[in-house]
Amino acid sequence: MSEKPSFLPFALPDIGDEEIAEMADTMRSGWITTGPKTKRFEDDFAAFLGDPALLCMAVNSATAGLHLALEALGIGPGDEVITTTHTFTASAEVVRYLGADVVLVDVDPVTLCIDVRGIEAAITPRTKAIIPVHYAGLAADMEALLALAQTRGLKVVEDAAHALPTTCGGQLIGTLQSDVTVFSFYANKTMTTGEGGMVVTRDAELAKRIKVMRLHGISRDAFDRFQSTTPAWYYEIVAPGFKYNLTDVAAAMGLHQLAKLPRFLERRQYLAARYREQLSRLPLMLPAEAPAGDVHAWHLYVIRLDASAKVTRDEVIQGLSDRGIGTSVHYVPLHRQPYWRDRYGLEPEMFPHSEAAYQAMLSIPLFTAMSDADQDRVISALRQILM
Ligand SMILES: *Cc1c(COP(=O)(O)O)cnc(C)c1O
Repeated sequence: MSEKPSFLPFALPDIGDEEIAEMADTMRSGWITTGPKTKRFEDDFAAFLGDPALLCMAVNSATAGLHLALEALGIGPGDEVITTTHTFTASAEVVRYLGADVVLVDVDPVTLCIDVRGIEAAITPRTKAIIPVHYAGLAADMEALLALAQTRGLKVVEDAAHALPTTCGGQLIGTLQSDVTVFSFYANKTMTTGEGGMVVTRDAELAKRIKVMRLHGISRDAFDRFQSTTPAWYYEIVAPGFKYNLTDVAAAMGLHQLAKLPRFLERRQYLAARYREQLSRLPLMLPAEAPAGDVHAWHLYVIRLDASAKVTRDEVIQGLSDRGIGTSVHYVPLHRQPYWRDRYGLEPEMFPHSEAAYQAMLSIPLFTAMSDADQDRVISALRQILM
């Protein structure tokens, strides 16, 4: 190596002049917190999902959105909520915010999404809800999961942080028959507002509660107060709510990110197809594709080392790092995290598929702003390390 190439991170946001101009416009407008741009962002999001029956509520993170969803569903002490061990802690921590307990379940070894038979086996009389995660952008088996939930009278809150836009049975995630779906606009997700999220439901009562709890338990939000004919100074507190509203500065970014989403998806699909083709002869297990006719959002590109590989996962990560290429591991499963492990007495043997995947996996760079040449660097580095 004569000259060290610049560092290629595993993810980067893709923010253009449109976002910057819209944010500057907001900053000059005199209204920078939740207001007209947030409202437009919610309307545009509903239009993107394409179902007029859906109610969309912007929040300042998906974590906040998941918390609001479970609170509105009445989850509390004594209840159990089932989710996957193979996720980010946010999927589970929100259950503990409400004093309920988390029951972790293993994943399908191919998709790495929650195993529906595992859910069935984990149901107890205390079970109230299921939180599936559409891992890496591939939908969980929602047909079986929703059927199970309906039979057993359980609520479903989809953690769709990776799933914009993902389809399942030809329908966009967000439009299925679950109770609530929550999207994330964190910096490395398929679109971003820096920090942010969107809560989607068809249930008007849930939406009403979520809106109230999103902003201090105020019966009308601050912007409405300045729109309606009742005195602007008057408001009522109906619950000890949270501070989970999205700012107009963030929504301004979101408006243009959302408009670019079809192009972003195309680029991610192109890069994923190229990885599939170029990495196929290496001792790797490549990520599961979506079923025919469905869309994988390709938030992450997760590869797993075959048992036949002559190097370890950690050596691959080091080898890529030595060549200036960033990676990540999604995830250190929750059953290995001290808090979850110790609270529920969890052992790796209880989650053999998640555990095996964790030992073998890494996420390689996949983001819309990376060039074909950037991707070629990753491919040739993997060839050098693995062949
Ligand atoms: C990113 C992420 C979240 C949290 O999203 P925030 O918007 O950062 O709160 C939740 N679940 C999963 C699976 C995620 O990847």
